[in-house]
Amino acid sequence: MDSALVVIYGLILCWGAAWGSFLNVVIWRLPNEMSVVSPPSHCPKCQRNLAWWHNVPVFGWAWLGGKCHYCKVAISARYPAVEATTAALTLAVSIPWVSAWLIGDLMPWQAGVGLLAEHLLIFACVAIALIDADTFMIPDRLSLPLVPLGIVVAVLIGEHRGVSWQEASLASFVAGGGLLAVQWGYAAMTGREGLGTGDVKLLAALGAWLGLQTLPPLLLLASVQGLLFAFGTSFFGKTNLKEERGLESLRHLALPFGPFLVLAGLQTLLLRSYLEPLIRTWLGG
Ligand SMILES: [Zn+2]
Repeated sequence: MDSALVVIYGLILCWGAAWGSFLNVVIWRLPNEMSVVSPPSHCPKCQRNLAWWHNVPVFGWAWLGGKCHYCKVAISARYPAVEATTAALTLAVSIPWVSAWLIGDLMPWQAGVGLLAEHLLIFACVAIALIDADTFMIPDRLSLPLVPLGIVVAVLIGEHRGVSWQEASLASFVAGGGLLAVQWGYAAMTGREGLGTGDVKLLAALGAWLGLQTLPPLLLLASVQGLLFAFGTSFFGKTNLKEERGLESLRHLALPFGPFLVLAGLQTLLLRSYLEPLIRTWLGG
């Protein structure tokens, strides 16, 4: 790998980590109806403002030894984890675009639009997954704009992402409508709500970005991983379900579905970016 490429990828990692740092603020403040720009980052316990070097993604937390500089209260390891994960995902979706640009498959503007669009998708998805995990709510402000944005991206560079704008529109429509029907049926049969309307909007958004034919495997992937997680946590006693093992416990288990939809969506996106070119080369001989 030549040095220019190392610099490009290094900058993309820093860009992703900086956004991860901002997402930590969004994840905490958005559900609480607080402004994401003011006041500046401060310790939730002693309220003192953080110095700039405390705010350096991942490293700030490490330098501080995971404690507030002033009052020594522990700072959750989730902050650097969100920053590192966002940085890694940002780089992962960027590499195929940068490579396609370098070998001349794409015009610079096409690679740029594709790369930035998928960064936005990553940032929104990370925030949605963690807010849903924390609060069992998916803010409309994060999920709904992804639907028109996905369709616009499909208009601009759909042929390079494998999703036409017609398919993006249809997918978001079908995903929204289909899941609403399932939700209605489930509620009618069991008298309780299984899926939140937030999940419906998120699936519509993922449909706009990933296309119609990816939705059935995506839903399957999300459900299987959600169930495995539910079994895992109930088996290892991390929940209060120790007395109710197995299927019975699942009926009473309230698990946010959003994080698993996001997980399956990102897995699909990455598999498609990396696996499809390989398969095409292989088939093309
Ligand atoms: Zn403090």
